[in-house]
Amino acid sequence: MKKIIQDLSLLEMEELTLALGEKKFRAKQLYEGIMQGKTIDGITSLSKAFKERLKEEYENEPIKIKETFYSADGTEKFLFEFADGNLVEGVLMKYKYGYTQCVSTQVGCRMGCKFCASTLNGLIRNLTAGEILSQILIVNALHKKDIKDGAGKDGRAVTNVVLMGSGEPLDNYAETVKFLKLLTAEDGIRISARNVSLSTCGIVPKMYQLADEGFPVNLTVSLHATDDVTRAKVMPVAKAYKIQEILKACDHYFKKTGRRYYFEYTLIAGENCDEEHAQGLIELLKGKPCHVNLIRLNEVKERELKSTDDKSAYRFLGMLEKGGLSATLRRQIGVDIGGACGQLRASYIEKKEKYE
Ligand code: SAH
Repeated sequence: MKKIIQDLSLLEMEELTLALGEKKFRAKQLYEGIMQGKTIDGITSLSKAFKERLKEEYENEPIKIKETFYSADGTEKFLFEFADGNLVEGVLMKYKYGYTQCVSTQVGCRMGCKFCASTLNGLIRNLTAGEILSQILIVNALHKKDIKDGAGKDGRAVTNVVLMGSGEPLDNYAETVKFLKLLTAEDGIRISARNVSLSTCGIVPKMYQLADEGFPVNLTVSLHATDDVTRAKVMPVAKAYKIQEILKACDHYFKKTGRRYYFEYTLIAGENCDEEHAQGLIELLKGKPCHVNLIRLNEVKERELKSTDDKSAYRFLGMLEKGGLSATLRRQIGVDIGGACGQLRASYIEKKEKYE
């Protein structure tokens, strides 16, 4: 596989451009074109010779949209294909304040969470920073018209980013941090770290490291249980890092960044959403600068875990609120276009295997 030009900062593109014997201002044209989601070939301001030279080393089109699914509520779900044929999925959610895109950081995942479809076949490979960024660049380009119609700002449709697609961002730490640098760069698409949420299954040492990187993103931890034994049943990573260690790392994150942190709590019927679990959560989190996002389980057909009904979900939310926690039950969006993390890719691959 060739290199990914989206991995480069403006400064690095300047070095590359000069090394290839072109004038420095060509780098700016290249960078702007790339930030607009163009392929190398698609940047009309550059000479054919320069583009051919670039394409010897760099992928012309490192990402393609293989399929798009449209939900009745406006949500769009994408199946992206990288240059080596690997697939990941992404979601675009449209809100009044802008568009939020959910991006993937790895092809597959090695964390093994029992409810998650992304991890069914383990980790295939890490994505590079540029491959993570290119998911946003291509969607921005696709929605250029919406920008003209008033969506987004500063020439981009996507205003918010969540790292909640396939993969564990802190298991691909270096590329994820580099991605944050490219995403927030002054001269790039300039999405503020405050508008970025990074979701982790709780890799404690990397949470400390992230606190010191200088990107005050919204740190979100997937909790899903109130004690370590129950948590380890659905999340193998819980054997390595205890809930108390996670809470300490979150407090450190708050001290360093001033940002409150978030917990994801997926409601699994008969497992984690009875009164005792609500009390457990309240004991763990009361008085902390955090917010709890309750998620309804998206049932994965390869897994046995079951979702809760609406009534139980709201009852659980009510108990948390009564106990003094800040909590919300996440609105279900895009359910008609095929569910949870990794399901789209899994069903695509299955379909392909069946018909080929
Ligand atoms: N690896 C990261 C980010 C990816 S998953 C993490 O663990 O946080 C993003 C969120 O979706 C996590 O909270 C994850 O636990 C949750 N999730 C995964 N599969 C799900 C499913 N089938 N139903 C509901 N939530 C799911």
